[in-house]
Amino acid sequence: MEFTKDVFSKKWKVTLCHAGKQCWCREIYTVDGECIIMEGCINKLLAKYFVTLHNKFLITKNKKLGNMCKQFSPKGRSFEENLS
Ligand SMILES: [Zn+2]
Repeated sequence: MEFTKDVFSKKWKVTLCHAGKQCWCREIYTVDGECIIMEGCINKLLAKYFVTLHNKFLITKNKKLGNMCKQFSPKGRSFEENLS
């Protein structure tokens, strides 16, 4: 699944897949409709967990979470740099 790196600076939401509410899986989208995780990849509990965690970071700008997110941002440091 292709997406632009700025999805990490947008709020995310959990959405139902085409099978609806009864399905085990959920999709993750940015609030403006860019697909991050498509159907059949992640269960609803985990989807909710990731979205909550991500959105919480956007609000609180938690430093540790921020460093984690920098690994993915275009201007951020590389993963290896963050480990050292
Ligand atoms: Zn599904």
